[in-house]
Amino acid sequence: MKIASFDDLRVGIVEDRQVFDMTAALPAFLDALPRQRVNWLIAHWDEMAAVFADPARRGAARPLQEVRLLAPNPAPQHVFAAPANYRKHIGELGARTVTKAGRSAREQGFFLKAPGSLSGAGEPILLPRGSSRRFDHESELAVVIGRAARNVPREEAMSYVFGYACLIDATMRIEPGVAEEERSMRKSFETFTPMGPYIVTADAVADPGALANRLWVNDELRQQADTSEMIVGIAELIELVSSVLPLQPGDVIASGTPDGVGPIAPGDRVRIEIESIGSMTLEVRECERQAPRPY
Ligand code: MN
Repeated sequence: MKIASFDDLRVGIVEDRQVFDMTAALPAFLDALPRQRVNWLIAHWDEMAAVFADPARRGAARPLQEVRLLAPNPAPQHVFAAPANYRKHIGELGARTVTKAGRSAREQGFFLKAPGSLSGAGEPILLPRGSSRRFDHESELAVVIGRAARNVPREEAMSYVFGYACLIDATMRIEPGVAEEERSMRKSFETFTPMGPYIVTADAVADPGALANRLWVNDELRQQADTSEMIVGIAELIELVSSVLPLQPGDVIASGTPDGVGPIAPGDRVRIEIESIGSMTLEVRECERQAPRPY
């Protein structure tokens, strides 16, 4: 099943290029907390899966191209991200990385992106206005957590996965010796975590450890890899994060980028496609308003 958020935080099922509005199948109290709808849905999926699968419960259908797709979970409590998780990516950024030479996610652990940086397939990537800094794309498989997880061994970890989505980990690079802001800030500008186009539930993905992951800028193929090339696989990532703090239903883990990371600029079109999940194409633009400090 494919679960989307769209328009004014409505929740739907995507099928045959249509969105079926399921918002009315959710408890009415969530109308006061629309950003929490998908967190609640995931936490109650044991009961709600049958409701969502029942054709009689489906609301009105609309063509997918007529709705504005938002991040499929607009407000996860956490967005975790793996640094240096594909062998060939390690080293390609030269001095522009804060990951220590030769280290992978296994030694470095995870970092955080602000959940407020999430955006959806129907939204642009907005770069700071008038910036001369380098901004990069990173093509990643997002893992969405299905239930609370603390100290989960990797052998059991896959049963904690709710589903998967495409995710771009957009990044402002450091300029060594000139500008070296914290990583969490450089990766947390508004719209720097496009996710979508929807969540594909785990039962619909035969082997998340063997999916083609590709990204184009305009029509140039920049990144091409397979999730089997990840150094720390999905199960070990869940073991790693849950060994530090509790994962919550709806949390997102960005599983790291392969090589081919490169710059994006206003006017570009970025397309990410992950096998069995879907694809999304985003325009890169400048923010309308200049920040009160330069970037
Ligand atoms: Mn990344």
